[in-house]
Parts: sequence; C-alpha cells; structure tokens
Amino acid sequence: MEAITSGALYQNTMKIVEDAGKLVSLSPNVIERLRYPRRALIVAVPVKMDDGRVKVFPGYRVQHNQTLGPFKGGIRYHHQVDLSEVAALASLMTFKNSLMGLPLGGAKGGVQVDPNKLSKAEIENLTRRFTSEISPFIGPDKDIPAPDVGTDSQTMAWMLDTFSLESGFSQTGVVTGKPVEIGGSLGREAATGLGVIFATEKALEKMNKRISEATLAIQGFGKVGMFAAIEGYAKGARVLAVSDVSGALYNERGLNIAELVRYVKEKKVVKDFPGGQHISNEELLTLPVDVLAPCALEGVIHKGNVHEVKAKIIVEGANGPTTREADEILHGAKVMVVPDILANGGGVVVSYFEWVQDISWLFWNEDEVRNRLREIIYKAFDKCWAFAEQEKVNMRTAAMGTSLLRLERAMKLRGQAW
Ligand code: NAD
Repeated sequence: MEAITSGALYQNTMKIVEDAGKLVSLSPNVIERLRYPRRALIVAVPVKMDDGRVKVFPGYRVQHNQTLGPFKGGIRYHHQVDLSEVAALASLMTFKNSLMGLPLGGAKGGVQVDPNKLSKAEIENLTRRFTSEISPFIGPDKDIPAPDVGTDSQTMAWMLDTFSLESGFSQTGVVTGKPVEIGGSLGREAATGLGVIFATEKALEKMNKRISEATLAIQGFGKVGMFAAIEGYAKGARVLAVSDVSGALYNERGLNIAELVRYVKEKKVVKDFPGGQHISNEELLTLPVDVLAPCALEGVIHKGNVHEVKAKIIVEGANGPTTREADEILHGAKVMVVPDILANGGGVVVSYFEWVQDISWLFWNEDEVRNRLREIIYKAFDKCWAFAEQEKVNMRTAAMGTSLLRLERAMKLRGQAW
C-alpha cells in the first residue's frame, strides 16, 4: 500500500478528506474505506519502436470506489505518472462524481511516457497494448476511461477499437471523449471550460454581479482555458488577460477572444498577438480582476504569491492550482475560491452524458447538452454554497463535505460501511 499512499498529492487529498470528514461527522469506517482504492492494476506496456527496439512503459489503472456506479476517470500519458499520483487522481474522481450527483464511481489510469517523444504509430501501438492489458477490468458497465493530460479523442478511438476487437463486437460505451463520428457527444470539447463559466456566474451572483459586468483573467489557453475564455467573452465579460506556456497577454479594455482564438489556431501560442500587451504569467495572477481562473497547472497560487492576488473570486479550472497554505490565507482574506472538484466538473458531466447517449443509442443536440450541464453545475454550486453558509467553512471544505455525505449514505445503504 505504501506505493499508493506515499505521494504528496495522495497525502494532500486524504488530508482534505479527513478534515471535511470530521466536520460532517463522517463515520471513521467510511473514511478508512475511502482512504484506499479498491483495486490498483500495474501493467507492462511493451512497444516496438519505429527503429526496431522494444521499450517497456509502466502503465496503471486504479479503481478507487464504485459505490455510486461504474468506475470512471481519465487516462494520462506523462513522463511523471506514478502509481500514487494515479491513485490520488482516482480518488478525486470519486469525490467529483459524487459531488456532481452522477451515478458513477472514481478511477484513473496512466502510462509513464512522454508522448511528445513518440511517433503517432508508436503512440497507437502503446495505446492498443495498454488497452489490451487492462481490458478485463474495463467496459461500459465496469469502468469507462476518458482523455486526460497527454491523451485525446484519437487515443479514445484506438481504445474503443481495441476493446471492441477483443470483445468481438462494437462497444462504443467503453470510453468517453471520443470523436462524434464514433459515438462522441456534441459539446464534449468545450464542456470543462463551459462548466468553469457556469460556476463563475454563480459565484458572481453571490456578489450581486452579472458576468456581463465582470472582468476575468484566465491562466492557460488549452482545452479548459480557451473554452472558458470563449464562453466568458460570448456572455459579455471583459477578459483582461490570458496566458499559456509562451507568456501572458493583457488589454485593459478586454481582449478580443474571437480574434485571439483565430490567431492561436494558426500560431499555436498567444505570444505576440497584436491585440494585447505582453505581461508575465506571475503578473496575470495578481491583476485586480473580479475573477481569476487558473486553468493550466497545479500549485500556481502559493504562499509566496498569494498576498499579491487581488481577484475577489478564484475559479479553479485546473486541478489543484491553489496550495493548502494559500487556500487558508485566501479564506481569511474573504476571497471566494470555487474548488476544482466543483469548477472543472463540466468535463466529467458531459462524459457521463456521452456514456448515457452511447448505451441508449440516442444522441442529443448541443443545446440539450449545454442546458443539462448548466443545471448540474448550478445545482452542485448551490448545494456547496448552502453547506458553506451553514457550517461557516470555505467552498473547498463544503464541496468535499457534500460529496462525502452522499457517498456515506450510499455506502451505508449498500451495507459497505459498518
Ligand atoms: P491543455 O494541455 O489543453 O492546456 C494547458 C494550457 O496551459 C496550455 O495553454 C499551456 O500552454 C498552458 N500552460 C502550460 N504551462 C503554463 C505556464 N507555466 N503558465 C501558463 N500557462 C501554461 O490542458 P487542459 O486539458 O486545458 O488542462 C488544464 C488543467 O485542467 C489541468 O490541471 C487538468 O488536469 C485540468 N482539467 C482538465 C479537464 C479537461 O476536460 N481537459 C477536466 C478537468 C480538469
């Protein structure tokens, strides 16, 4: 078990669980069960490289909890993936799915590989072999993978194909985040960013402000940040700054996001966009905006820079962008932090919609996806807000508390916690 519990992310996650668990008087037996994943599979993934050599990559699938329904969670390809990180992320999926009210448990997978160093053919071979190795454990009723860092809709298409070949018939519901042509959902690509903006609207509402009157700064212009910027801009917010790995852009009157998206499609990065002036990523975090949405990396708001943060609301599009110390300081300064499991839950919600559409063979239009997503994010936000008000805690503890209480009720009903 030590290989699972030893990582920093695992320990931080379990600390949040224990703190929130104590607050809601969660049964110690429930906490004890949630502390460990149900299953952790380690596989060797051999790949014949283009030059004829064979390389073996370590792969993992961790299934944390399935009290609420089949396991669900992404597959990450990254050179730093390890068992403990995958297990921590699997547990976060359990808590996120519970908070969102979905009938799903939590899982996560990964391969320790830098996908940028492999050719397309090598990545396809790796994906097919990894899928084959974990195939006894996944399936539309068992465990449904999705894309995560380093994987995309093409990866899911290969997983679907490999799993279907092994089963002897097509099983589109085995993965989500697929291309629309083979059972993907409309609206999946934009879902996480859209969810970030729905959560932002609710947070602003608590400060008697409409999104059309608000100013935003968004760190990261990828799958989450770009769609959050597009949606915020479409709703009339002034997006004063955005950034990516190449640096940050600022325009005091608001960036023209439609033009910036066209620019990034061509140039790949935001750097040198003529409609804004260059600032550093650190400066972006300290702008006097209504809403700061970190949508790139972990740990970017920390005790070293938190005192400079001037935003009134932080909406965590990324996973874990605020450290524990910074979180406490922000709470003391009355800055509202909308935590990751609430703010970026839009991705898994639309993944759930995709799975529902696949297993019912009935597909929805984009408006239906958006409207249902809005309803779920608003409802989850309201639950957390009511909890935070009642218990006088911050939104992170409220989100975890809300999630744990639902899990506890389900575990007790199923006779899983004594
Ligand atoms: P992505 O790779 O599509 O985009 C990441 C963005 O961050 C890119 O624009 C990149 O240039 C930028 N970036 C990298 N280093 C940076 C730096 N030092 N400063 C500023 N920007 C930097 O990834 P993504 O899917 O958008 O994921 C972002 C975060 O959101 C991750 O924490 C991920 O786990 C989380 N998340 C993603 C989803 C999803 O559906 N994609 C769902 C939930 C959570």
